[in-house]
Amino acid sequence: MLYSEKVLDHFSNPRNVGEIEDADGVGEIGNAKCGDIMKMYLKIDNDIITDAKFKTFGCGAAVATSSMATELIKGKSIDDALKLTNKAVVEALDGLPAVKVHCSVLAEQAVRSALSDYYTRQGIDPVPIVGEIKEPEE
Ligand SMILES: [Zn+2]
Repeated sequence: MLYSEKVLDHFSNPRNVGEIEDADGVGEIGNAKCGDIMKMYLKIDNDIITDAKFKTFGCGAAVATSSMATELIKGKSIDDALKLTNKAVVEALDGLPAVKVHCSVLAEQAVRSALSDYYTRQGIDPVPIVGEIKEPEE
């Protein structure tokens, strides 16, 4: 089986799909390889991510990883969300085929991009906190 049960589950029943109208941070990231585009909305209260939603136009792995990423950061502090790596997302999904690992990088970067937007809105330079957002190359 190419995809784990969890990947198939999160692809068929993605959690937290949609947008947050009064989001505190919105991030968008794309990858050229699959043509995936992921948009991430975060609601942040006192440095805690109280809600996370996403819209992904892309392959199944991109949908599953964004779904899992939102599950992993909801209720967490910004610090914890910044520690979220694509590896942690892949592990939580019981693995991804090697050719699809770049889609999990997209989820990681979408979270960072939304947090970067959050800091920018507060007038804080996000780069020292969040780092540079990079579009995944593979
Ligand atoms: Zn993809």
